[in-house]
Amino acid sequence: MLLDKPVASPHSVAESSALRLRDSFGRAITDLRISVTDRCNYKCVYCRAGDEGASFTELPIADYLRMVRVLVSLGIEKVRLTGGEPLLRSGLVELVAELARMNTAFRADGSRLDSHEVGKPLDIALTTNGHLLESLAAPLAAAGLNRVTVSMDAVDPEIFARITRVPRSFQRVMAGVRAAQEAGLGPVKINCVLLRGFNDTQIEPFAEFSRRQGVVVRFIEFMPLGEDRTWKPETVVTMDEIVSRLNAWRPSCGVPAGLVELPPLTASETAKRFTFADGIGEIGIIAPVSHPFCGHCSRVRITSDGALRTCLFSQSDHDLYGEMRRGGTDQQLASYIRCVVMHKEARHHIGEPGFEKPSRNMVHIGG
Ligand code: SAM
Repeated sequence: MLLDKPVASPHSVAESSALRLRDSFGRAITDLRISVTDRCNYKCVYCRAGDEGASFTELPIADYLRMVRVLVSLGIEKVRLTGGEPLLRSGLVELVAELARMNTAFRADGSRLDSHEVGKPLDIALTTNGHLLESLAAPLAAAGLNRVTVSMDAVDPEIFARITRVPRSFQRVMAGVRAAQEAGLGPVKINCVLLRGFNDTQIEPFAEFSRRQGVVVRFIEFMPLGEDRTWKPETVVTMDEIVSRLNAWRPSCGVPAGLVELPPLTASETAKRFTFADGIGEIGIIAPVSHPFCGHCSRVRITSDGALRTCLFSQSDHDLYGEMRRGGTDQQLASYIRCVVMHKEARHHIGEPGFEKPSRNMVHIGG
């Protein structure tokens, strides 16, 4: 779906404070991604230029929590913790435990709950490279984490280590995936970014991996968000290509070849979902480059240093933390957020003439 013109709001300022957060195109903003550090213990070749340290400051956990509370009062229902590598951040388990005490503020029809009503618990998810997950999966699950996504760009341990630039990383991540499954965080989602000529040999092995390991494998098209800025359209392995490769693939146990499409779980689902003829395994394909889904975007992001971003590809971000530091009340922060969100971009312009790179790279935004 493409968006053209902003929709005029029929509501006064006083009325709109009772309404859930929407942008000027009428999109309800229900999902928050929050980066708790931009440090990372992996140096994935397409993401980081090689430096592990932080480029931006980290806020105290209490400050992230205050921002989330204000955003939840405006309509946020899902919070995904990310980075950098979020498992490097001290206080992460406590952050999850505090998030698990928060409840949503709106009914499904978009009206605000009355003060005596209690909303649903937040949906709390984590995106991690999995390197430190083996020991943290159980405490995070006990604190209230609902779901985990582990990034893995190969199932071949050698290719994996070549991408992460960390020896024996595959074994560590697999131990993390198993620990997450044992801690009840399944079905674990595995995110794989495919780069032509680098790890596109891994499509069929990942399909087998999904079937054997009971994980949902999601292929993500490569976007122009790396520190080294080497993105080229030719490097992107598109959804159509992945589908055609997997349609021709025959699962080893005598099951006929061919993907079977699964229905979307929600209207704003970013992945097209598939299984195989016997219903074993699940493949998702997220295609922001070849099949953009901006029309359904329900997200905002907070960076590790407390900037609010309305799109991965924003040309600038908004200093929410600055508003807090200057003594803004919760109500003032809420007004600031409403105002910023009214300027959320209609869509990204990847691959179009005149495309401008965003003001930050993926690792400093929070993927
Ligand atoms: N360290 C955590 C991890 O590895 O999942 C969280 C941060 S990482 C930046 C989040 C996700 O962004 C990873 O799945 C990574 O593969 C993905 N990513 C990084 N650069 C990307 C790019 N240029 N295009 C698409 N996805 C990208």
